[in-house]
Amino acid sequence: MSYKLFIPGPVEVSPSVYKAMTTPVFGHRSPDFVELYQSVQPRLQQLFFTGDPVYISTSSAWGVMEGALRNLTEKKVLNICSGAFSDKWHDVAKRCGKDAGAIKYDWGTPIDPEDVRRELSTGAYDTVTFIHNETSTGTMNPLAEIMAVVREFPEVISIVDSVSSFSVLKIPKDELGIDVLLTGSQKALALPPGMALFSASPRAHERAEKLADRGYYFDFLEFRKNHEKGMTPSTPVIPLIFGLRAKLEEIFEEGLDARFERHARLNAKVHAWIDRHGLETLPPRAFASKSLSCVKNLHEWDLPAIIAHLKEHYNCAIDAGYGKIKGKTFRISNMGDETDETMETLLRQLDETLAALGYTS
Ligand SMILES: *Cc1c(COP(=O)(O)O)cnc(C)c1O
Repeated sequence: MSYKLFIPGPVEVSPSVYKAMTTPVFGHRSPDFVELYQSVQPRLQQLFFTGDPVYISTSSAWGVMEGALRNLTEKKVLNICSGAFSDKWHDVAKRCGKDAGAIKYDWGTPIDPEDVRRELSTGAYDTVTFIHNETSTGTMNPLAEIMAVVREFPEVISIVDSVSSFSVLKIPKDELGIDVLLTGSQKALALPPGMALFSASPRAHERAEKLADRGYYFDFLEFRKNHEKGMTPSTPVIPLIFGLRAKLEEIFEEGLDARFERHARLNAKVHAWIDRHGLETLPPRAFASKSLSCVKNLHEWDLPAIIAHLKEHYNCAIDAGYGKIKGKTFRISNMGDETDETMETLLRQLDETLAALGYTS
């Protein structure tokens, strides 16, 4: 049973990626693997806008999100919380036994850089975590402005999650001074789940060198040591790396600027649909995500009925809201390989579904 995914992750995977993933595997210490690993590195660095290494982790994003804390937080971490994933990061920091403070926002409220400055000015922190694009609330935080503030505190290592915004728009890691930028495979990159990518600055590695309890599986220094040989610390998910190589070819064939422009254009189409129905995004429009739309269910539509109808009649899926805003919001993804045609088709099918269910708006 397969149906087309417009949920904000996992998203639709292209046939070419699935096909690449059927390439027979080889030993992860073989020259063939080294060649594969090194072949994706230059394009990954281009996509991360970085001169630092880009590491491949066989885990979902959470592995690296937790690992980064274990590698980098010596004194205290500031977790900026404004949605399901960023709230959870605070919980994970505590579960790792880290001293953790938080700035807490209502879901859908963007991060205010002034709050970050006030909190970091206490001098209590040596690390900060935040999410560029909160997938649960469809909120895109002002990354450049937040990073400008974080850079005022040279002792603070920044860990930024770009799981649902990576390659959707330009995130110039080095220029912004982001120490650790991480993403996962199954959202903005439109690969199947099971792999995370991250790039870490020299500063981040220096901090890791000072920490004793980094563990093994997510030890940044193990990643660096193996990276230098064109390898990963443990046996990686080789089929996903084949998929990644195929995806990078597609991305660079389209061109980065064209890819960024396509996401903005498709996102604007969803926004036009939202306006046409007298609806609103959960965050203020200026902070609405470019890769998905989290829409307030202002007309109290029966979302499970809409979703069941879409699946039954059109073989596709949107999302009925995440966590505590389930039912109060719904989400439509435009990330990955979507086109004008696929988004227009979805929005038309949504309209037909609304009509079929007797909603007139
Ligand atoms: C999905 C998501 C995660 C967690 O990803 P997993 O693949 O489940 O580990 C983290 N952050 C953001 C912003 C996400 O959207």
